[in-house]
Amino acid sequence: MKVKFYGVRGSLPVCGREFERYGGNTTCIKILREKVNRIAILDAGTGIRKLGKEIIEEGVNQPLINIVFSHFHWDHIQGFPFFLPAYNPNQKIGILAIGRKGEAHDLKGIFSQQMQEEYFPIQMERMGAQFDFLSYGDEEVIQGAFVKSIPQFHKRSGGSYGFRLDDEGASLVVCTDLEYVDGIIDPAIIAFAKDADVLVHDGQFTTEEYQNKFKGWGHATWEQAVEVALQANVKKLIITHHDPDHDDEFLDDLEKKCQKVFPNSLFAKEGMEILV
Ligand SMILES: [Zn+2]
Repeated sequence: MKVKFYGVRGSLPVCGREFERYGGNTTCIKILREKVNRIAILDAGTGIRKLGKEIIEEGVNQPLINIVFSHFHWDHIQGFPFFLPAYNPNQKIGILAIGRKGEAHDLKGIFSQQMQEEYFPIQMERMGAQFDFLSYGDEEVIQGAFVKSIPQFHKRSGGSYGFRLDDEGASLVVCTDLEYVDGIIDPAIIAFAKDADVLVHDGQFTTEEYQNKFKGWGHATWEQAVEVALQANVKKLIITHHDPDHDDEFLDDLEKKCQKVFPNSLFAKEGMEILV
């Protein structure tokens, strides 16, 4: 499968020359399962706007496009009203919450509220596409792919979920928006990521920043991401959810430090594509 990053920024979008290379859009990842030629989307941060335009321009003909959500903070849903395929009456769109079966959120409410008339000129029911709102359990086969999820600690939000996709003999794990309480790595996350080909992991802060300023903010450090990658024996590590105060130069520096301890690692950039 192929993974392409359309948004790698955490918390809120940023712009400016100092953010040009890594990009300023918030979280959105496209997964292409090549053998069945199907795409799925993880999170709908502002990066989904460009992805939606590409889907239209490339004439992608996929009757059902699933968008899977790690959680519903602004930086993961904000791009949704600008996702062009959602305005196509012939398009079905699955809005998927995974790992929440039995504690179903009001999924429709989450999205229609952010588009109510005080906030946005077009309401969700007038977008045009046909929406399916679905809550799945911890282990599911979705469109032929084996999908697992795990609850993560993400304070002040009711939690977030990590995802694992095993498909076509490859495994991808995405764990973003999670905090390790008191700096102690959650052994369940290590087990979840075990032997993955690619681990995409939150690394919003440095250890120094975390200890001095950001305890309780719900995010991991890049050093913790490396620790998880090492203990879980993953082949490749991608750090994402970059802090809006971290410019290109700063991220280059962190990436170099990261590669010294885990050589097969990269800091995610907008437009970056990874073969899993
Ligand atoms: Zn986030």
